[in-house]
Amino acid sequence: MIIPKKTKLSDDELGRVVKIAEDFGCRIQVIEGVAQSIYALVGDERHELLINRIEGLPYIDRIDTIQSPHKLLDIRSELRNHPISFGGVELGKELLLIAGPCTIDPRNPQRLYETAHALKEAGAQALRGGVWKPRTNPYSYQGDNKCLDILMEASRKTGLPVNTEVMDEGHLEMAIDAGVHMLQIGTRNALNYSLLSQVGKAIDGKDTFVLLKRGRHMGPIDEFISAAEYVVNYGNPNIMLCPRGTLPGLEGYRNHPDESITPLLKEKTWAPVVVDPSHSVGKAVYVESCSMSAVAYGADGLCIECNIEPTRGLGDDPKQAIRPDEFRRLAEKCREIWKLRSL
Ligand code: PEP
Ligand code: MN
Repeated sequence: MIIPKKTKLSDDELGRVVKIAEDFGCRIQVIEGVAQSIYALVGDERHELLINRIEGLPYIDRIDTIQSPHKLLDIRSELRNHPISFGGVELGKELLLIAGPCTIDPRNPQRLYETAHALKEAGAQALRGGVWKPRTNPYSYQGDNKCLDILMEASRKTGLPVNTEVMDEGHLEMAIDAGVHMLQIGTRNALNYSLLSQVGKAIDGKDTFVLLKRGRHMGPIDEFISAAEYVVNYGNPNIMLCPRGTLPGLEGYRNHPDESITPLLKEKTWAPVVVDPSHSVGKAVYVESCSMSAVAYGADGLCIECNIEPTRGLGDDPKQAIRPDEFRRLAEKCREIWKLRSL
């Protein structure tokens, strides 16, 4: 990681750094932070001569060589100082609440609009809604391109930024063109390195965010963080890590709740942690306690399935979505726990 003396290098200055890096078979990845640009040296950056030549440039302060499988996401990386704000919330300063249905119903856009208004009123700062769905059963409803317009219309009507899952390059292109604010990479694609890279490239230079769910076949924590590194190493550091439960499930729950990994993630990475309690426990009645537990463990935010009429929703909603009035109560309790954290 190259730390310049100023907040941003000029094109000429950057050109000289790039040239030196290339002489040693490395490349420079620019990460445009809000306050400061960061210059990652990608490749084997341990040549002494390479370090000396770059550190010898008058506008370079130093090179930090972090020995980590995920240099950019590492807690010691300069990116830890990069503020991440979404939905008007600066992560780490206030609890981020993303809420909305599992699946958007193409035949009933009004239900999404009403849900979105009610959730905003109840304290949500962002709206989620599945346009395309990864369904276990090939005969289940798979989503519909039409729902992308419905989601963006809900965003316009409420002013809430929106999150939706993308599963392939086609979805990615459509979502970016439509102006989706946060792309979700689901648990099934959490280790799809080709998709992670495509998403990273597609959001470079944009203010789009990524919510990366944790793979449900629990792997080491470093594996989760390294998956996020695939996205960030193309230049956009707007990533959030989302524990959402793993398999095998705990009897009675849909998955094995894993909000307790939050402090472990926070020890290793600066990336905000946004827990999904809905897929974790899989039943509306347990969502509030899982949410409170996530906040107690140090989560920066929650992503919760909600619907004004869960029983009439599609996908997971009849089982696990909560109503806006339940969401309001949950939000109030979680904000109280947030305050307790700093006592
Ligand atoms: C979802 O958010 O509706 C979803 C399918 O998520 P996950 O990938 O965590 O199962
Ligand atoms: Mn769902």
